[in-house]
Amino acid sequence: MSEFRGVATAEPDLRQILKTRFGYDDFRPMQLEIIGNVMAGRDSLVLMPTGGGKSLCYQLPALCLDGLTLVISPLIALMKDQVDALRSNGIAAAYINSSVPPHEVSGIYAAARAGRLKLLYIAPERLAVGGFDEFLRGLRVDQIAIDEAHCISEWGHDFRPDYRNLRTLRVTFPRTPVMALTATATAKVRDDIAEQLGMPRARQFVSSFNRENLTYLVRPKRRAFDQLVQLLREHPDGAAIVYCSSRDGTERLAAELSSNNWLALPYHAGMDQEVRRDTQERFIRDEVRIIVATIAFGMGIDKPDVRLIAHYDLPKTLEGYYQETGRAGRDGLPSNCVLFFSAGDRAKLEYFINDIEDSTERERAQQKLNQMIAFGEARTCRRAFVLGYFGETYDRPDCGGCDVCLAERETFDATEIAQKVISAVIRTGERFGPAHVINVLRGSRGRRVLELGHDQLTVHGIARGHGREELKEIVGLLEDEGLLQRSPNKYATVSVTSAGHDFLRQRETLSLRRIKRAAQSNSGPNDPPTPADGARTGGAALGINRELFQRLRDLRAALAQSRNLPPYMIVGDQALQEMATFFPRTREGLTHITGVSRVKLDEFGDAFLNAIRSFGDAQDLAEQANLQPPTRGQDNGRPDFDPELFERLRELRRRLAESRGQPAYVVFSNRTLEAMAQAMPRDHAGFADLPGVGPAKLEEFADDFLQVIREHTAARDAE
Ligand code: ADP
Ligand code: ZN
Repeated sequence: MSEFRGVATAEPDLRQILKTRFGYDDFRPMQLEIIGNVMAGRDSLVLMPTGGGKSLCYQLPALCLDGLTLVISPLIALMKDQVDALRSNGIAAAYINSSVPPHEVSGIYAAARAGRLKLLYIAPERLAVGGFDEFLRGLRVDQIAIDEAHCISEWGHDFRPDYRNLRTLRVTFPRTPVMALTATATAKVRDDIAEQLGMPRARQFVSSFNRENLTYLVRPKRRAFDQLVQLLREHPDGAAIVYCSSRDGTERLAAELSSNNWLALPYHAGMDQEVRRDTQERFIRDEVRIIVATIAFGMGIDKPDVRLIAHYDLPKTLEGYYQETGRAGRDGLPSNCVLFFSAGDRAKLEYFINDIEDSTERERAQQKLNQMIAFGEARTCRRAFVLGYFGETYDRPDCGGCDVCLAERETFDATEIAQKVISAVIRTGERFGPAHVINVLRGSRGRRVLELGHDQLTVHGIARGHGREELKEIVGLLEDEGLLQRSPNKYATVSVTSAGHDFLRQRETLSLRRIKRAAQSNSGPNDPPTPADGARTGGAALGINRELFQRLRDLRAALAQSRNLPPYMIVGDQALQEMATFFPRTREGLTHITGVSRVKLDEFGDAFLNAIRSFGDAQDLAEQANLQPPTRGQDNGRPDFDPELFERLRELRRRLAESRGQPAYVVFSNRTLEAMAQAMPRDHAGFADLPGVGPAKLEEFADDFLQVIREHTAARDAE
């Protein structure tokens, strides 16, 4: 294998290239292994979720290999995006597809022949164009990357006959390593891809489909519009996509939002092509922040900084739901996915399903919908649920990123109510869904209850004091406990398990854990957990200065506009957040910011540094006024801490700030220093309790400050 001509002779420092060319410090999971496989001249099959960082797996090797990297990609818009992004990092790349005029194509041919290109993107149809094969034969191709590789398989959901032509590439370049990449493939599709591409020995890289940075929330679809507005408020500077099930639904909601001063545009397949393109473009360029769309929106959009995906209506399948939510937070920053869940939507969808003529297809559609509903009704971790659906086990007890795991729980004695509910299930004959059983328990005199004579049962009305929702939840909890079970068909009949019978017979006590409510009687939605300030916020988000962040965003927008690029191609949100946290004031400082490559440093560095410096100077002046020696204290104006210690801490702060090229208050505020001098913490736990100390600062500064405190107390005790 060592004769493979593409192997670079000297071992390149991959991490160095990652930093200088792409501006990233660390590889994402699997990237390094995959790159290593290419560099060893071997074929790879890469299965990674959206946003996992697939492109880098071939883009980085492309820079290390002598010859050209050929990239096959089916979506014209994405090709342009990727090439623009590469060029913005100073990497020689081009694309050829039907949108490129012939005279430009010949220019690209010439550049490729002369070895001036590192990456060439083509659409699969191109392989069938006369003369193209000949052109390729004249090139030195050292890597072939096939994006959206599931399109080659008829088992996948997006089969494209043109992809079958790709096999000819294997014939033309028998020794060139091929990388097939996809975000959607079952084991069956995966094997089919390998077979169709004639690479049976390709190494398969299957990464987890868990998206750590996404939080999944399901909320009852009540006062949904108000809830949506609240969510938009919680995401003041992020892009949002709101999915609706119908075309006029998108238009109505977009209009309603806009009339409430939330500029939003609709998007659906029934709209004029031109308008659609324009809408998409404006979204990508941050000119409009909110898109209200049918599922037609999203394919071919690579925007990395979508912070909120809301499903206003119930999706038909979990596959669709997961694919749509996958468009949030591609850049790895915390983002939210909110599903508004209602039984009414279910009925609507079932109405359409009943219209499907083919019975197997109807059956399948119903099953998929049932899964979606089970997801919405789950009282267990949403993340574990979806991953489980895709065949992946997620065994952490608490994902920390879904409404179920984030909810506060309370334990309550459920013995009596459990006995009542289980008895009612038995008395009504184990032939009904929870709704009817609950009606009986609550003493309903509705028609159906009377018709069945269930008002005569001893269990009729024995749980009058309990709310309908509450009883529904208890039925669910009893299911989780294995005391009740539900039939899998759409009638969802509840019956009692043998454990349930034992429980009744043996008169055991039972305590259950349920989600704690703000006020039990309140009929509105439970106070939902707000994930924004949860533990999932990335480190840099901790001490972020919102004001500077906003200024940097404005600066970025201006830079993008003058270059006719989408803002995220200047630098990503993560970079802005880090700048607004660490206040880099030198070029060296800027190189530590995520996404700042050498080329970007040269092009935009000064603009950002100027903005940070002038903002920081103004803050310093303000802080100076605050840096007077402390005189606060309870009695006689004496400070209630040792002023000597305070001075030492302040001196340390000055040194730390200086070595980082940051203003002093970025390390700690005076208030924190005062509290420190007063509490004199001895360990990390004590330090963490101080005001203004978050996990990031704890890790970065605690040891230095604790050391000073220790020295101070030792000196004092020695006296
Ligand atoms: P995919 O094609 O798998 O959906 P992309 O290749 O578009 O994902 O990458 C998603 C985002 O992650 C992009 O903004 C990309 O620049 C960024 N990214 C990729 N690799 C890294 C890395 N090692 N560190 C930080 N960001 C990365
Ligand atoms: Zn969870």
